[in-house]
Amino acid sequence: MPELPEVETVCIGLQEVVGKTVDHIELLDAGRGVKIGSDEISGFLISGVQRYGKYIIFELKGSSGPLNMISHLRMTGQYIPVSADEIDSKMHKHSRVVFHFKDGSYLLFNDQRKFGTMELISPMEMKEYFASRKLGPDALLELPSFNGFLKLMNKKPKLAVKTALFDQSILMGLGNIYAAELCFIAAVHPATAVAAVPETKMRLIHAAIVPLLKKAIEFNGTTFDGKYVDAKGDAGEFSQFLKVYGQKSCRICASDIVKIKLNGRGTYYCDKCQR
Ligand SMILES: [Zn+2]
Repeated sequence: MPELPEVETVCIGLQEVVGKTVDHIELLDAGRGVKIGSDEISGFLISGVQRYGKYIIFELKGSSGPLNMISHLRMTGQYIPVSADEIDSKMHKHSRVVFHFKDGSYLLFNDQRKFGTMELISPMEMKEYFASRKLGPDALLELPSFNGFLKLMNKKPKLAVKTALFDQSILMGLGNIYAAELCFIAAVHPATAVAAVPETKMRLIHAAIVPLLKKAIEFNGTTFDGKYVDAKGDAGEFSQFLKVYGQKSCRICASDIVKIKLNGRGTYYCDKCQR
């Protein structure tokens, strides 16, 4: 599932559609999460594309006023801007929504699993939209100071630290891969309860969040299962820097990396380095 760096990379690629006007939208077997009608944003100009947590926010301007389209990629969603002469070769059986622009170009939304979402919200209702979902602050844009971070984590003191790190009600944006990497960086066993993590290690986690996310964005995110691609359809290149997730041996001590299930998610760690 795309995490913050992957969604940010998609948003960077989507800057290509900023300034384009929607002619109409074609819905092709879209999932239940796609709640836009074919004519609802016809004639609207895309004035900006922003990321918030793992959400993509398309800012639209129309004769009836501003409107936001909030989208979540979930498991397999992909946005691919496509030129008029590429459309036939780029469309495939998992293309769910086609945005037709007035200039003759397109934006494809592909989604193999059909869990991706799109909904229209007035800019006035944005705060309420996110508040009602009980989401924590954005891990990159709004990461609190250490004390604030500790307070957020301690909302779930008994939860395994790795699971808490990708709990979106604590912090928005981290997922299974980057949470595992943070536990490795701080040399903490991923199953340690939040309340039992020593403060020195919690400080290491806090200090590593922004640099890890920034570096992952620099390398266009992580493609692991082949599902995530950026807006050009290319895989992310951060996988080469992963230290535990999906790895065979530890880069520090050369021990085998252990894989367990933790709260239902595949979890990698070094038994020797992470205690
Ligand atoms: Zn090790």
